[in-house]
Order: sequence, then C-alpha cells, then structure tokens
Amino acid sequence: MAVRLRIGNAEITGMVDRRHAIDPAWHYPDVPAEAWEPYQELLLDDVWSLLNFRAFLVRADDRTILIDTGWGPVHAPPGAPATPAALLDEMAEVGATPDDIDQVVFTHLHADHVGWNLIRDEIGIRPRFPRARYLVPANDWAHYNRIPEMHPNIREQALPLGDLGVLDTYEGEFQVLPSLRALPTHGHSPGHSSFVLSNGGEHCFILGDLAHHPIIAYEPDWHHRFDYDPPRAAEQRKRVLEQLEQDGMLVASSHFPQPGFGRFVRVDGRRRWRPIELPGDPDPGHG
Ligand SMILES: [Zn+2]
Repeated sequence: MAVRLRIGNAEITGMVDRRHAIDPAWHYPDVPAEAWEPYQELLLDDVWSLLNFRAFLVRADDRTILIDTGWGPVHAPPGAPATPAALLDEMAEVGATPDDIDQVVFTHLHADHVGWNLIRDEIGIRPRFPRARYLVPANDWAHYNRIPEMHPNIREQALPLGDLGVLDTYEGEFQVLPSLRALPTHGHSPGHSSFVLSNGGEHCFILGDLAHHPIIAYEPDWHHRFDYDPPRAAEQRKRVLEQLEQDGMLVASSHFPQPGFGRFVRVDGRRRWRPIELPGDPDPGHG
C-alpha cells in the first residue's frame, strides 16, 4: 500500500517494491547475540523482522521525481522469498505512470535501489522512465565504473545509463528542485546521499540507507553488513539522527517497517523510532 503525505504544497509517496521477512540480526553480523538481549521484547513484534524495499515519488514544483527504483522485476533480495516487485503498481495507486517521471534520483547505487531503471528485452536496452534524466551520486558512479565485481542488478540496471545518454551526476549538497535538496551522507556507499523535501515551512528527510532497521535509533554504532566505510557511515548516522531528533523532523525510510514514515523521538532518556499513525490504522505502533 502506497503511503502518501503532503509536505506544504508538495507531496511524497512511499512505495514498497518488495518485502520479505528476515532476522533483524542479519543486518549486523558483527554484533554479538547478547547485545540484542535488551530488545527481546521489541523483537517479539513480527513487524521487526519485515524488511521493506521502498522507493519514493515526489511531486513538487510542477515536477514528478522518483527517488530510487527498488529491486525491480529481475533480481530479488537474498534470503527469504520476497513479494513480487510492485513499484509500478504502487505508482499507479497514486495515479503515476513511468511517462510522468521527469527525473529519477538516487540515494546510492546499491542493487536494491536501481532495479526498475531500464527495460531490457529483444529490442534492446532503454530507460523504463522514457522522459526522465537519471541523477546519480558522482562517487557511486565512479566507484562502480572502477570495480570489477558488483551485484548483477547494478551492472544491468545502473551502468548502462551512461551509454544511453540519460545520466547526470551530482556531488555534495545539490538542489534537485527548489523544494528538494540532496545532502551528502557518504559512508554506506562512496556517494550515499539523503534528501530533504521542504515546502511551505514543512519538511521531510529522506534517509536513504543511513539506517536499515528501527533498532538503529537505539544503537547508531552498529555497522550494517553493506556499509562501504563503516566508521564514516556510523559518524554520518549519529550526526544525522541527533539532528533529526532535535528537529523532530518527519523522516522517510527506505527499509523500515510500514508505514516507513516517522520520527526519531526521545522517550525515557533513550532515542526511539516512532512511526506516524495513518488514519484508520488500528495498530500502527512498533519499536
Ligand atoms: Zn538499501
């Protein structure tokens, strides 16, 4: 189910491309089992074992932007079976088609964020979003054009963007739209970036993969298995979470349980993740 929120006169929709159940400990292989003990009660909530792979649709400034494109239809996440790739269905729920997309922008180029980029068939390879420019973090683009080994989704769905002539790169702080700004949060990948959508005095922070699981509200030092530069990722994660808690800013997460939007708040002296409550949702709370 797509989750659509208004931010001033702009709009952001969280769309789950795929989802599967996976032990939360899988994310953090160097964290010993005993470190999870204080969280046993939280872990009883099944929703904590659901890993979502989300993309976001932003409508702002008379433009329609897609942030990340999920796993896509060809490759699935490792481990437990995942739900079928549903990004295009989720887009349709809010009346968006591939033709509507003006720009596809990426938090980073990992396999679970690029999967719907291209159509590859007997005719050849072409952009799935035919009118769009694809805006990629420059450091990630350089990295994956340099290293020989990568997930096939990156090779098949990201690297051809250059030859197709639809690629733009960005570095550092970058104004995508008057209402949408990219902020460098490098570490999870060489060019990993977050975004802030600001309109009419309201804000939403698009986290990217600064955190994969709500446990990180409590344990920002835990290294994710796919962090490229773990110390730098932890430094960025701690800095940003601190700021988001202070500001009480609405946050959109790529991977957290539904609804994927919430805030980092302090309760009983500890930070936690508080999901937003959706109208008509009888049990929105977890974590
Ligand atoms: Zn991811």
